[in-house]
Amino acid sequence: MNERAAVLPVEDLRRDFPILDQRIHGKPLVYLDNGATTQKPLCVLDAVRRFYERDNANVHRGIHELSARATDLFEAARERCAKFISSASEEIIFTRGTTEGINLVAGSLARGPLRAGDTVLVTQMEHHSNMVPWQLLAEYHGVRVEWLPIHGQEGRIDRDELVRLLDREPKLFAFTHISNTLGTINPVADFCALAKERGVMTLVDAAQSAGHMRLDVKSLGCDFLVCSGHKMCAPTGTGFLYGRQELLDSLPPYHGGGEMIDSVDYSGSTYKLSPSRFEAGTPNIGGAIGLAAAVDYLEKTGMDAIAAYDHELGQQAYDAIVSESLAEVIGPAVGRAGLVTFHVPGLHAHDLVTYADSQGIALRGGHHCNQALMRKLGYTATVRASFYFYNTTQEVEALLVCLRKAKAYFGL
Ligand code: PLP
Repeated sequence: MNERAAVLPVEDLRRDFPILDQRIHGKPLVYLDNGATTQKPLCVLDAVRRFYERDNANVHRGIHELSARATDLFEAARERCAKFISSASEEIIFTRGTTEGINLVAGSLARGPLRAGDTVLVTQMEHHSNMVPWQLLAEYHGVRVEWLPIHGQEGRIDRDELVRLLDREPKLFAFTHISNTLGTINPVADFCALAKERGVMTLVDAAQSAGHMRLDVKSLGCDFLVCSGHKMCAPTGTGFLYGRQELLDSLPPYHGGGEMIDSVDYSGSTYKLSPSRFEAGTPNIGGAIGLAAAVDYLEKTGMDAIAAYDHELGQQAYDAIVSESLAEVIGPAVGRAGLVTFHVPGLHAHDLVTYADSQGIALRGGHHCNQALMRKLGYTATVRASFYFYNTTQEVEALLVCLRKAKAYFGL
């Protein structure tokens, strides 16, 4: 463990997550599926409960006291999220998560500046939610999707190749910050600077990074950034899209309905500016309040300490699996995020995950919403262990013991 990681009071933090303190099939739970969703601390559960117990009403429309309180809490949550990534409040649009954020941008761009024949550049390491929305635009709007290749089992991106493709002036470059399967941490600021020099818009998928490292959209230099609350200690069905203010105000709405309009008549409607323009209908008010509580909690814990700690756990797991030849591991050898994805030859991912479950260990098995990437790397399915700040080195060791035992159990 490096020095910064060692200062995280993990045993104290674990007490904030009662769900971790249980036995599964008679064994202590080892939750290593944080890439799929993280657990929620008591302060988040309390914030949501407090809202429904005392303040629940619809936002922005009522004149009564409860509605005023709910609106204040909802807008304070927006401010809290804005501060978390160093943006302005008006640049934060609450969504159901990363998937909805990307679809929102794709849908609005398709009604606005994106024309048939325009290109969207996407990397080959993207999650389905940063592939399919662009493929839908290709299918229904004649937009071209170009793929930035990745190389080798580490999934390397060649910067010169990126420059060559950006020189062809796609309209948008959409890429993940942290690959949910490879564990790659892409150099967002560098990629965005390259795109900006060429007048190319950028969208950063921060699903795997927002809860794991400090993000500052001004120094990253991106036009859009999306994340999911449930992957950063907040309730499911929450998240936000950051968009540069002038860009958001220039884009047409995504959904139509209540609260996003200035005026409506039978002859037509006019729309508010961001963020209201993109938040038609009653939002997930309790969820946004829970998300703000999660952001408070993460910052109190320390984003730099979280980053150092869970990246270190990922590296430990990677190094041990490789040095003991326990499995084939994909993704970069160093500088990786807090997850490790692997394949044990002769053992299907689902069998291994089922075996791990019998040992109390929660892993993920399958294509991880990266079917194309899996195929490119020559696998139908792999196993992923993904860490968070409440995991321990003992849990990394439990994973290794489980792998050794599984191989013996299956006669490998
Ligand atoms: N992008 C990445 C990199 C992810 O890991 C995920 C979820 O695993 C998503 C997007 C989709 O997130 P959500 O299902 O919360 O919308």
